[in-house]
Amino acid sequence: MTDTIKKWGMLIDSSKCIGCHSCTVACQNQNELPPRDNFNRIEEREYGKFPNFSRRFLPVQCQHCDNPPCVKVCPVGASYKRQDGVVMVDAQKCIGCKYCLLSCPYNVRVISEEYGHVHKCNFCIEMVLKGEKPACVTTCPMGVRVFGDLNDPGGEISIALAKVSHIRLLKELNTKPSIYYVIK
Ligand code: SF4
Ligand code: SF4
Repeated sequence: MTDTIKKWGMLIDSSKCIGCHSCTVACQNQNELPPRDNFNRIEEREYGKFPNFSRRFLPVQCQHCDNPPCVKVCPVGASYKRQDGVVMVDAQKCIGCKYCLLSCPYNVRVISEEYGHVHKCNFCIEMVLKGEKPACVTTCPMGVRVFGDLNDPGGEISIALAKVSHIRLLKELNTKPSIYYVIK
C-alpha cells in the first residue's frame, strides 16, 4: 500500500453475473433499506437475435463519478464528494428537492419515502474505513466485483484493471465514473 490519498473504485465483470441478486439483498441489509429502496440494480440485457442470442446481467449502482452532476445541482450542499472519491449524501442537509435524481444519468439515487431525503450507494464507506470491503463485493458468489484503491499501483484493483479491457458507462457524458466494467 502507498501513503498517497486513496481513490476508491470498482471493477465489475458482468460476464460472471448470474443474476442471483445476492448483492442487492446484501446492500439492502447493510443499509437497512425497505425492499422498494434499491441502491444496486441488476439490469437484464439481451444480445443478438433469436435463436442466436444471449442474456447478460449488468449490475448498476452509484458510479462515484469524478465529475458528478448530482453534486453540482444540489442547492444546499447535501450531495458532496469525499477526498477519497466517494460521493455522499448528507441526510441532515438534504431537503428532498430531487434535483440530483433528475441530474444523475445512471438513475441510481432513491428518495426515502420514510425520511424524505435522497440516499444511494456509498461504497459501504464505514466498512471500507475499517479495512473491509463493500457488502456487494463480499457477498457475490461469482466474484463479479473487485474493489480497492485506484491510486495504489500494486493493489488488487489496479492489477485487475491492467489485465482486462474495460469501459466506463456513458463515458461520453464526461462524468468520469470510478466504476469500470470488463469488456468481453
Ligand atoms: S452515478 Fe449518479 S449519483 Fe452517483 S456520483 Fe454519478 S451522477 Fe452522482
Ligand atoms: S451477487 Fe454477484 S452474481 Fe449475484 S446478482 Fe449480484 S453481481 Fe450478479
